[in-house]
Amino acid sequence: MTEDLNPFALAQQKLDEAAAILNLDDATHQMLRWPQRELHVTVPVRMDDGSTRIFHGFRVQYNDARGPTKGGIRFHPDETINTVRALAAWMTWKTAVVDVPLGGAKGGIICNPKELSLAELERMSRAYIRQVGRILGPEQDIPAPDINTNPQVMAWMADEFATMRGHNSFGMITGKPLSMGGSLGRGDATARGGAACLREAARELRIDLRGAKIAIQGFGNVGSYMHMLAQHQLGMQVVAVSDDVGGIFNAAGLDYETVRAHKQAHGSVLALPGSQPLTNAELLVLDVEVLVPAAIESVITAANAGNIRARIIAELANGPTTPAADAILYERGVYIIPDFLCNAGGVTVSYFEMVQNSYGFYWTEEMVHERLEAKMTAAFRAVHAGAQAHRVDNRMAAYLVAVARVAEAMKVRGWV
Ligand code: GLU
Repeated sequence: MTEDLNPFALAQQKLDEAAAILNLDDATHQMLRWPQRELHVTVPVRMDDGSTRIFHGFRVQYNDARGPTKGGIRFHPDETINTVRALAAWMTWKTAVVDVPLGGAKGGIICNPKELSLAELERMSRAYIRQVGRILGPEQDIPAPDINTNPQVMAWMADEFATMRGHNSFGMITGKPLSMGGSLGRGDATARGGAACLREAARELRIDLRGAKIAIQGFGNVGSYMHMLAQHQLGMQVVAVSDDVGGIFNAAGLDYETVRAHKQAHGSVLALPGSQPLTNAELLVLDVEVLVPAAIESVITAANAGNIRARIIAELANGPTTPAADAILYERGVYIIPDFLCNAGGVTVSYFEMVQNSYGFYWTEEMVHERLEAKMTAAFRAVHAGAQAHRVDNRMAAYLVAVARVAEAMKVRGWV
């Protein structure tokens, strides 16, 4: 039988397991199985050739018991409502596990941004905000970048929202450029949080990261910064990286600045002089100490989990490992730093950005780094301790910490 890869079904399945261990009452459990609200939008966009194309998009607000909902917007051709629901659920657990006063949400537009000009991308971004703007706001729901969206897209969206409301409201979206209320340290925040978790995990496992081999799937905002930090901060040897076209390998290590310059010049990491090509599937099963999936969901499945040779998997992507793969990897003693802990650095600095926007006073990069480190280390400790105490894997331990916090907020509010 092939595995069910519907990400929302997988997210619900993990929640069900956590609810059983936490002995949640039925109402709390049922409430947490579903998004509180979702908006489906259809947006017309004028194309450069004068024609009009119709795009479909979503915004899912999963749970706001702990504060306004928060989560990124993805532009992806394979986007589905179930993917967005799962990602919104994971945002709820993510904000809870790092203990920032926010709930979880996610948005997406079904599109292939590679086929759009910059002007079309701008019109689509603005059209989306004209539709979902009615349920956004700094006290309601705050989007951010995710796959195929970046600070420029955030700037267009913030500007469109300002036009709708008649005044600036910078705290309505995060990951903005510095010139319009962005925060220092937001760009590499997700990777930096993951690097902090990796350092803590290696300490627990008594693995010396200096000189150790690491493979990174994905060379977007998260994967590329992870390459930088693995090489320059942790002293690791990055032997393989990839993007959606394919990957490259060099047993002696790939230099971050060289790969980044090549990607900038050629649009892909492929064909870097001195490297060997490899597929995304081959990258996952390389003989490395650390594997970092930093691209899309459901790439580590029952079909390849048995072949993974890494000792630590640091999940910077959302939902890269299926539950069936989890069970195989746990059995084999692979240490997983689960996604909504490992990649929580992004939303943590997004929260710092909102705080700075609200009082209009901006922090130094050192302050951001220091506060991010403190949040990530505390979250890692809580999850690691939970795994030992409950004798569960790290992912379930992260669920137990996060779900208990959201359940508690729903209880004190009188919802359940
Ligand atoms: N899209 C990022 C994530 O999945 C960041 C979300 C945010 O900053 O709100 O965590």
